[in-house]
Amino acid sequence: MKEILKKAQQGKYAVGSFNFSTAEILKAIVAAAQELKSPIIVSTSEGEAGFIGMREAAALVEAWREATKLPIILNLDHGKSLEIIKKVVAAGYNAVHFDGSSLPYEKNLAQTNEVVKYIRQVEKTFDREIIVEGELGYLRGASSLHKEKLEIKESDLTSPEQALDFIERTGVDSLAVVIGNAHGVFAAGEEKLHLKRLAEIKEAIGDKAFLVLHGGSGIPAEDVKKAIEMGIAKVNINTELRLAYKAGLDKELAEKPDETTPYKILEHSFEEVKKVVAEKIRMFGSAGKA
Ligand SMILES: [Zn+2]
Repeated sequence: MKEILKKAQQGKYAVGSFNFSTAEILKAIVAAAQELKSPIIVSTSEGEAGFIGMREAAALVEAWREATKLPIILNLDHGKSLEIIKKVVAAGYNAVHFDGSSLPYEKNLAQTNEVVKYIRQVEKTFDREIIVEGELGYLRGASSLHKEKLEIKESDLTSPEQALDFIERTGVDSLAVVIGNAHGVFAAGEEKLHLKRLAEIKEAIGDKAFLVLHGGSGIPAEDVKKAIEMGIAKVNINTELRLAYKAGLDKELAEKPDETTPYKILEHSFEEVKKVVAEKIRMFGSAGKA
């Protein structure tokens, strides 16, 4: 599992992390990856896992791995407690993101430490590899379409010194950073990445951890590509898939208001989600890397 990200780090491409909460969204993500022969990470937040079910998500992903032979990592996105992390690990997830970024630095560090300790124990006891991701910096927004303007302060950004200290003291495999990114898509004004800050972070940490970019939705492709060249190995996409899903559904219902067959109602949603995932895979450079 860690090999998938290591290869991306060395090859200067990124593996996309795509969120799902239903079986057809997962199917659309996998279909795009299969067509492009790309490794992928599929993720659920606590809320998304609550809807589809953790064991159910793990079983579906395992079925897709067998059917496609693709490297597919199942990841918990934004776990807020050790409790939820224990649950997803028991259900069979291969990666966990513990988000303590809203806590004061030392508290974030202490709680992330506990999570890493737990994961390493599980890895040893059950001979299973699990990726742990921590998060530093103030990442604004939620995974939706925002009408307001995005304002990011210099003090929200991840500090290079803290990033190194955090990685060394927690032993996380990956680190989510804030470099001008935010959750969701912002309608007014575009999101710009502070690439200079990213270069400073990469310079400070080297290859000690995989760098992760959250809130990949809504960032200009050029910036995302540069960030990947500079060392980002995982990019999270959620909101753009949600918007595509909804747009597909709206179109279908408007075109055929009398349709009652669920798999026919979901046809456009499936295609729209698949299209976005394929576009991102190409942008991230992971096509042909499976
Ligand atoms: Zn996130």
